[in-house]
Amino acid sequence: MPIQTALEIPHVFAGNPLDRGEVLRRDENWLAEAANLPGAQFLPLHRLKVALVEDPDNGADKHATSRDLCWFDRDELDAQFSVGAMTLLGVDANSLPHFAVDVPEAPETPVGYKFIDARHAAARLDTPSAGILAHARAQLHWHANNGFCAACGGPTQAGRGGQIRQCPACESHIFPRTDPVVIMLVCDDTHCLLGQGKMRMPRMKIYSALAGFVDQAESIEEAVRREVMEEAGIKAGAVRYHSSQPWPFPSSLMIGAHAEPLTREINFDTEEMADVGWFDRNQVRAAFAGEGDFGLPGEIAIAHHLIKHWLDQE
Ligand SMILES: [Zn+2]
Repeated sequence: MPIQTALEIPHVFAGNPLDRGEVLRRDENWLAEAANLPGAQFLPLHRLKVALVEDPDNGADKHATSRDLCWFDRDELDAQFSVGAMTLLGVDANSLPHFAVDVPEAPETPVGYKFIDARHAAARLDTPSAGILAHARAQLHWHANNGFCAACGGPTQAGRGGQIRQCPACESHIFPRTDPVVIMLVCDDTHCLLGQGKMRMPRMKIYSALAGFVDQAESIEEAVRREVMEEAGIKAGAVRYHSSQPWPFPSSLMIGAHAEPLTREINFDTEEMADVGWFDRNQVRAAFAGEGDFGLPGEIAIAHHLIKHWLDQE
């Protein structure tokens, strides 16, 4: 198989430039004062939508209003919002702490910023800002859903600036979870295998790489082969890692791979998939050019890069 592994692709949601402050977090004195340090920066999220700076030149389109994260200093934050959960994202190159803040209530007509959902926001942010947004969204979602201890049912408390949660009753430590997902393009020299999931209901038919959660006690390679068999009825052989992408909806890590097909006959899972098929290079090239009768995932998705890489390996 001619696929070569890409060293690194700056996927959307990767590239967070903040130092996560592993050492600083363990300094309780520093941590106690961090949110009051001059220059500390706060990024508000309301129902997991993030504040972006308003762009007055683009006010007509609610998704095109802004291109930068809207950071507040402590005084501005307290003046505008009642502050909920707060988590330390890390420190910047000047050692200034940066926090993500849940704001349960938002003004009806905010001035100078807007709350935008993370997918639309990421399409407009540069790589570092989208990386920060991914961490902020994943952290606040995790805190909101781990208020109680799974072992004893007692209320939990955030520790180390939000890096962990602790249960005072049974002394359990709860760590943020990341759910690995394999996403794989099954391909040979001439064809690749693409599927249309049943959950997708876009205006246009979108075909993409197959994907699924890694099961417990399963390697990435095993997960790839199992998912390809379950979703397409195809037996896969060699698996080659390509790249990975944080996907904060709510906390996945997409592990991208190419996989070699050992069989050709498709027998797809009709519960999960609307269609699965083999597509040749001309069909895929036309789809990327917007000229086919189906669409492919956009650049925000790792699937786009898996497919593009295969096409470019001709
Ligand atoms: Zn407990």
